[in-house]
Amino acid sequence: MIELAGVTRSYPGNPPVHAVREVSLRVRPGELLAVVGPSGSGKSTLLNLIGTLDRPSAGRVRIAGYDVDRLSDRELSTLRAEHIGFVFQQFFLTPGVSAVGNVAEGLLYTGLSRRARIAAATESLRRVGLGHRLTHRPHELSGGERQRVALARAVAGRPSLLLADEPTGSLDTASGASVVELLRELNADGTTVVVITHDTDLAARLPRRVTMRDGAVVADDGADASPPTGARPAPQTGGRRTPPGGGRPPHPDGSPTAAAPEEDTR
Ligand code: ADP
Repeated sequence: MIELAGVTRSYPGNPPVHAVREVSLRVRPGELLAVVGPSGSGKSTLLNLIGTLDRPSAGRVRIAGYDVDRLSDRELSTLRAEHIGFVFQQFFLTPGVSAVGNVAEGLLYTGLSRRARIAAATESLRRVGLGHRLTHRPHELSGGERQRVALARAVAGRPSLLLADEPTGSLDTASGASVVELLRELNADGTTVVVITHDTDLAARLPRRVTMRDGAVVADDGADASPPTGARPAPQTGGRRTPPGGGRPPHPDGSPTAAAPEEDTR
């Protein structure tokens, strides 16, 4: 699902900042792992590279079989829309818009009709235990509920990869625990989940920990672990699960071959 080979991300300066340096990392479909490390160690930069929001200065990034280097920005947007869900510490919900409206917004570029988007959003909110909060607006929800709305939005399009940057960072212990439980459930359903956290208790409860320091991976206790329990086949072009109510072509820009996954050589 994720293959980083010798990935470096540097920012110009005097001296330049090597936010991520020479990182190689393999994550198989169905894994659940934590990326841990002190502030400034390069976790967010790494997540942005995995999420194809940023390109490496050197090295190779492959996500869901796609070589990021070979894709245009537009193809990367399509890859993200189809395969990757994001959750952030600050939720990023639209104020004044209901929970179902917020989740449906995340499906705007799927080509689904409004009715289908609402149906998919409703199902996704039920999946995270918020079926009774559909019409509540963010200010009427607790922090934990808001993060669950954000999670529902992230997974409404059924991404194969979920990236969460400090998802419990703004939550009290109980709400944080329920969000972690939800991440586990999504993983058990087959979603590959990467969680950035500086919460060592949270990290200790996940099957694999990748530890970063000064931009480098200094420990990885799951690199050679046995197959993950939540594994499902790696997605292929057109192989994504179709959201309730309809689907859309894998490459709306009409370039199905440009972004075709290479043969898996594992
Ligand atoms: P973490 O998520 O572990 O706190 P980051 O990935 O945010 O770490 O940052 C890693 C290093 O890269 C830090 O030293 C940070 O200051 C630097 N950095 C991050 N983004 C930029 C940027 N846009 N320009 C310059 N330096 C940056």
